[in-house]
Amino acid sequence: MPESKVGTAQCEYPKQPTSLPPMPAPTCSSCHAARAALRRPRSGQALCGSCFCTAFEAEVLHTVIAGCLLPPGAVVAVGASGGKDSTVLAHVLRELAPRLDITLHLVAVDEGIGGYRDAALEAVSSQAARWELPLTIVAYADLFGGWTMDAVARSTAGSGRSRSCCTFCGVLRRRALEEGARLVGATHIVTGHNADDMAETVLMNFLRGDAGRLARGGVLGSAGEGCALPRCRPLQFASQKEVVLYAHFRRLRYFSEECVYAPEAFRGHARDLLKRLEAARPSAVLDLVHSAERLALAPAARPPPPGTCTRCGALASHALCQACALLDGLNRGLPRLAIGKGRRMLQAEPPLPGNSSQATSDPAAPQGPCTCEQSRDGATLCKEGGDRAGATCVLQSDVSPSE
Ligand code: SF4
Repeated sequence: MPESKVGTAQCEYPKQPTSLPPMPAPTCSSCHAARAALRRPRSGQALCGSCFCTAFEAEVLHTVIAGCLLPPGAVVAVGASGGKDSTVLAHVLRELAPRLDITLHLVAVDEGIGGYRDAALEAVSSQAARWELPLTIVAYADLFGGWTMDAVARSTAGSGRSRSCCTFCGVLRRRALEEGARLVGATHIVTGHNADDMAETVLMNFLRGDAGRLARGGVLGSAGEGCALPRCRPLQFASQKEVVLYAHFRRLRYFSEECVYAPEAFRGHARDLLKRLEAARPSAVLDLVHSAERLALAPAARPPPPGTCTRCGALASHALCQACALLDGLNRGLPRLAIGKGRRMLQAEPPLPGNSSQATSDPAAPQGPCTCEQSRDGATLCKEGGDRAGATCVLQSDVSPSE
């Protein structure tokens, strides 16, 4: 009987080393000279750092030209926050400015967020000095009757809904950037929103069922309806990963800390969801951006054409534009009044005299939670027992998720 060889067989091949030497990086598929430093997330193309930056700039140029976003001779206010997106946008547009025949002016907004914005503004100032670009800083406190984001946060804190901060901040920042752009004589505004930001916004609008914003959300920019300046997003088709890679290869320094109010924002949920979607389907970000571009609303779902704010003259879909309505609620000591269903009550109330920049209450005044028996959900005030006589009860109003 033949002897079993099970367990005694010897391998005929020489023993392989346990760790293999690393594979050499492929050659750049564009210049065919340098070693590739990355594989583009979108196309899988292997490029060296220099060829990637050239391709990135060419794509932004194509976005601007194909979309007729910045005509020759335009004076462009670049919304600068010191973060990666606006840093990359300002740098790329500075490279492209001679070819586009445009003039750049950095406009930064100081929201009044202690311990965060001060450091970010220092980063913007040093960028402006390094790139020899003019810089103008506009502050919420000057534009909005003393209100800063820290004061808004204190005002909304008693409601237990501090996530509303970004709802206020997003609206007020848009207004502040518009004011700053006018101040410097700009004809156009550009912001650094990238494809990931846009996809998050599309997701948020879907989750909120906000047909009006969905219908507007996909376009590359607005032509400047009413008295608003045209604004656009030249990085709308650039993924966040590529924005970071561009900043890395161009050795751009930017401010990367997160705002103290960001963890409360609803946007964080959309971001998490998007990351999971992207892991399952790498093209999810751009697919969402493009689907918003192509979205067509049924006539019945279309929002009515915007009118004019009765207070400040800005574009508005109600009697008051969003910025004036939010400030009105803050000045009445009812920060939730202009959010969600609370807005209906705002329409019923007579407007405060003066314009949106006239504050009638002290933004720094403490806003304690209501002790009224009918108080629900930690609401700040109600007419039954709020600490401001005559204040309208807002307990019945819902708060829409913040941005
Ligand atoms: Fe404003 Fe919110 Fe952004 Fe902070 S995270 S800067 S509060 S929008």
